[in-house]
Amino acid sequence: MVGLVVVSHSRALARAAVGLAAEMIRGAAVPIEVAAGLDDTAFGTDAVAITEAVAAADRGDGVVVLMDLGSAVLSAELALELLADDLRDRVVLCPGPLVEGLLAAAVAAAGGAGRDEVAAEADAGLAGKRSQLGVPVTDAPDTGGGNGDGPSATVTVLNRHGLHARPAARLVTLARSFDAEVRVRNAETGSPWVPASSLSRIATLGVLHGHRMQVRASGPQARAAVEGIVALAGRAFDETEPASAEPEGPAAQGRAASPGIAIGPARHLSSAPLDIPDLPARGPAQERQRIDDALASVRQDLEKLRAGAGSIFDAHLLLLDDADLLTEVRSRIDAGEAAPPAWAAATARVAGEFEALADPYLKARAADVRAVADQMLRALLGVPAAVTRGSGVLIAADLTPAEAAALDPVRVAGVLLALGSPTAHSAILLRTRGIPAVVGAGPAALEVADGTPVALDGGTGEVLVAPSEAALAALRERARGQAARREQAAGRASAPAVTRDGVRVAVGANVGSAAEARAAAEHGADLIGLIRTEFLFLDRDAAPEVEEQEAAWREIAQALGGRRITVRTLDVGGDKPLRYLPAPVEQNPFLGVRGLRYTLRHPGLLADQLLAVVRVARDVPVSLMFPMVSTVDEVVHARRMLDEAVAREGGGEPAGLQVGIMVEVPAAALKAAAFAPYVDFLSIGTNDLTQYALAAERGNPALAALADGLDPGVLRLIEAVCRGAGERVTVAVCGELAGDEAAVPLLTGLGVRELSVAPRSVPAIKEAVRATDLATAAALTRVALEMPDAAAVRALLDGPG
Ligand code: PEP
Ligand code: MG
Repeated sequence: MVGLVVVSHSRALARAAVGLAAEMIRGAAVPIEVAAGLDDTAFGTDAVAITEAVAAADRGDGVVVLMDLGSAVLSAELALELLADDLRDRVVLCPGPLVEGLLAAAVAAAGGAGRDEVAAEADAGLAGKRSQLGVPVTDAPDTGGGNGDGPSATVTVLNRHGLHARPAARLVTLARSFDAEVRVRNAETGSPWVPASSLSRIATLGVLHGHRMQVRASGPQARAAVEGIVALAGRAFDETEPASAEPEGPAAQGRAASPGIAIGPARHLSSAPLDIPDLPARGPAQERQRIDDALASVRQDLEKLRAGAGSIFDAHLLLLDDADLLTEVRSRIDAGEAAPPAWAAATARVAGEFEALADPYLKARAADVRAVADQMLRALLGVPAAVTRGSGVLIAADLTPAEAAALDPVRVAGVLLALGSPTAHSAILLRTRGIPAVVGAGPAALEVADGTPVALDGGTGEVLVAPSEAALAALRERARGQAARREQAAGRASAPAVTRDGVRVAVGANVGSAAEARAAAEHGADLIGLIRTEFLFLDRDAAPEVEEQEAAWREIAQALGGRRITVRTLDVGGDKPLRYLPAPVEQNPFLGVRGLRYTLRHPGLLADQLLAVVRVARDVPVSLMFPMVSTVDEVVHARRMLDEAVAREGGGEPAGLQVGIMVEVPAAALKAAAFAPYVDFLSIGTNDLTQYALAAERGNPALAALADGLDPGVLRLIEAVCRGAGERVTVAVCGELAGDEAAVPLLTGLGVRELSVAPRSVPAIKEAVRATDLATAAALTRVALEMPDAAAVRALLDGPG
C-alpha cells in the first residue's frame, strides 16, 4: 500500500488533517506519517524529520508527500536528496493542496491505488471545491459517456447532506474493491461521467440529498460492483446521522396516522417460515407463467415502495431482473420442478454465494436476496407477509391493508412506517383498530435496531428513538392527559352531539365488519355512516349470495339497536381489486372503472346488492349510498335498478329507505345542485375527493403532505356541496377528514351536519362538536377558504382561540 507523509509548519495542523483523513478511510491501514513543526507548538519544518517519516511510511509501494507552503516544500526537496537512491525513486512530492489532497490521497491509497494515481488524486483535490464554487475544473480528463453496455443502475442519494466527503469515500472504497471500471454521474444535473475510484472527481458531481446518481460498470466484476453500490446507496452509504445534542427532541417526525401514544421496543416485521407445499408441477409453461405473474406483482409492489423510499429497494428490483437467477429458475422448471421450489432453490443458492463473501457489504446482500425471495414466494403461494413476533412498536417500510388487518393490537403497541400515508387504507384500518401509528417517517425508521426503545405519538407524528427518561416521563404524562380526556368523552359518548349554539350534528361510524359495528355502538355512534361492503366481497372466489349479504347487514343493524345504517354499494377498482371479476388492466385504475362505474357494468352484482338492501330496509332504517359518482345519469340509472329491486321484492319502497351518493369526484361536488333532486343525502368522501382535487394519489407516501383534506381547494369543494345541497338534502362527510378533531369547526361551519368516523373516534368527535360555536366556526371558515394551503389552514386552527 502506498504511504503518505504530511509536511507542515504546524504539528497541530498536520495531525488534524490526518484525523480528517482517518475519518474518510474508517480504520483502513494506510501508513500516514507526520513531519511537522519543530515541536508541538513551534512552527517550522525539518528535512531530517521528513526523511525519517518517509522511511516509516514506505511499505515498498512508495510514498506520496503532501506539503503546506514555502519552506515545507524546500525541506521536502532537501529530504529527497538525503534519501537512499532506491527509496527516493519511490517518492512523489505532490503539489496538491494539503488538506483536500490528503483526504483524496488517503481514500485512493486505502483502495489500493498506485503512487502515481494517489498523487494524481491528491493533485486534483481542489476539483470538488472549484466545482462547488463555480470555478471551471480545467484539468479533468474527458471520461466520455460511461461504460457503454455494461450493467447500470440509478440510485437516489438519501444522505441529508448529499454525497459529501465521507459517503463519497465509502463509494470510492467499495468501487475500488472490484475488478471493474466503475463510473458515476449525477443524473439530476446531467453531469459528465467520472470514475467512481476518484474521490476528487466524485466531489465535482455536486450530488445533493435526493439526487439520482447513475452507476455503470464494465469488467469481470461489473455486475457485482453495480449491485454493491446500489446496496451501499440504500444504506445511505453507511453514514449514521450524528446523535442529536438535544436528546429530548423528536428523533423523527412522520405523519400522524392513528392517535394514541405507544411506547415499547422496536419490532421489525418478520417473516414466519414459509412452507413450500410438495405439489406436483403443472407443466413448464404454467409454472413459468406463475413465476412471471409473481415477478410482475412483486415488481409493482417494490416500485411503489421505491417511489417513496428511493434507492432502498433498487437492489431488490435488480434481483428480479437478474438473468443468472432467472435462467436457473426456468431451467429447474423445465426439468420438472414447480415454480415455488424452483424459485426457493435458486435464490437460496444466490444468497449462499453472497453469504460466503468476505466483504461485509456484499455479505449483507444475502439479506436483500432473502427478502426478495421471501416476497416472491409469498406472491407465488398467496401467503400474506407475516407480522411481528414479540410485543412492541412495529416498524416496517409499509403495510398492506391485509397486514394492517392482521396485526394483534394486544402485542402491537403502535406502528411506525417509513412510508405510508394517513389516508391509505392500511392507515384507516389502524385507526379503526385503535393502534397508534405514525407513517411516512422516512427510511431512517428502518435502521432502528430491533429491541431499541421507541416511543411515538400517533396524534402528532412525533417519534422518539431510545428516548431519555425525562422524555419518556413527559410522554407518559401526555398519555395520561389523553386518557383523562378520552374517559370524559366516553362518559357522554352516547349523548347527542350538539354545538354550543344548539345545532345537532350526527356522529356516525365507518365500519367494515359486524365486529366494528359492535365497537361503533359501544363508542356511542348515532348511526353507521358508511359500511364499506367490500369486506364481504374481497378475498374470496365468488360473490356472496343475496342471503349472505342480507344477513351481514342485519347483523350490523342489530349491533346498532335500530339506529340507521348506511350501506355503500361495492366500491372496487382502484386499489381494491376483485379476484373473481378481474378488471381489465388500466393505465390508471384510480381514474378507471371503479365504484358505481364498475357495478353499473356488472348489473347482476349490483342487482343482488340492491335486493339485499331493500329486504333489510323493511325492518330497519337503511341509507343506500353509491360511491364514485360523476354524473346525474349514473344516479338515474342506479335508482332505476333500485326501483326494479323494490318491484322484485314487492310491497313498495320501504319507508325508512333513503338514497344518497358519495361526493368524491370534484365535478360532482361542483354539480351538487344537479344531484339534489335525486337524493336524500350527499356524503363527501374526502379521501378520494382530496386525491382527485389535488392530483395526489392517496396512498403515495411522497405526496402525503400534499394530499391533505384541509387544503382550501378541497374546502371550497365541500362548500360547493353544502351550497348545492339545499335545505332538504343532508350533507355528511365520511372521509378521514371527519375524524380530524381540528377539522370539525370548519366542516360544521360550512354546513356539514353528519360526520362519520372510525368507531373509536366517535366520542372525541362528539366532544369537538360540543366545543364548536357555529357562528364563530362560519367566520373561521371564511378565513380558511382564503388561505393558500393546508399548512396555513392547520396553523389557523392551531392558533389562539
Ligand atoms: C373516501 O373516499 O373518502 C371514502 C370514505 O371512501 P374510501 O376511503 O372507502 O375510498
Ligand atoms: Mg372513496
